Amino acid sequence: MVEKEFYCELTLQSMQGELLSDELGMQILTASSGTELLPLLDAAYQVRKKYFGNEVQLHMINNAQNGYCPEDCHYCSQANSSDADIEKYTLKSDKEIIDEAERAYKAGAFRYCMVFAGRGPSKKRVEHLAQLVRDLKALFPIQVCISAGIIDKEDAQVLKHAGLDRLNHNINTSETNYPNICTTHTYADRINTLQVAEQVGIELCSGIIVGMGERTEDLIELAKTFRELGVSSIPINYLIPFEGNV
Ligand code: SF4
Repeated sequence: MVEKEFYCELTLQSMQGELLSDELGMQILTASSGTELLPLLDAAYQVRKKYFGNEVQLHMINNAQNGYCPEDCHYCSQANSSDADIEKYTLKSDKEIIDEAERAYKAGAFRYCMVFAGRGPSKKRVEHLAQLVRDLKALFPIQVCISAGIIDKEDAQVLKHAGLDRLNHNINTSETNYPNICTTHTYADRINTLQVAEQVGIELCSGIIVGMGERTEDLIELAKTFRELGVSSIPINYLIPFEGNV
């Protein structure tokens, strides 16, 4: 059983910015005789309170392009290799994207994130995205995030110059497990995208999908990688298997 004192110590270490040991990580993730839920929630609350008080930030996502992706990420219904029955559409018009940003802003969103299916944007598409970022920033006082796949440093500079606040690019799983979930690009491609964005001063959002054959050790490795990369936001997703993505 994981005890309350254990969580108090963990909270303290976390708030002091200490790197937790692999052994401690294993202890947390493999607590075989059960976890006390309330002390765990309280520990998480203490960390959240320190950094965000009682505030909640609303992030609105616009799936601005869905499907038709040439990649083969096995978990994704938009992959070329998937026969999932999804609604596919090419890039929404600028007007649609800006109208949806206005709705997000009026609804109180702190951040507006545009998500585009695909391996990564062409140079022409990067210029287009940069113009969209400039337009959005001129119209609404809202944080802007883009999730557009693999980019290089030149692309990152163009987007940063346009005013992009944050880039989302999920690592999804460990380096060891990566070939099992995708064969059309590599773990290194994803890490490189995050590194070039960070180098030009774009904030990072990068997460994982749990349940794709990774080991507990892989989760610990991923947590350390996010820390090394300086990732600000780490979405933790769980694979929902359905026809077409397994
Ligand atoms: S690159 Fe993105 S949209 Fe394309 S298959 Fe992979 S996760 Fe899905």
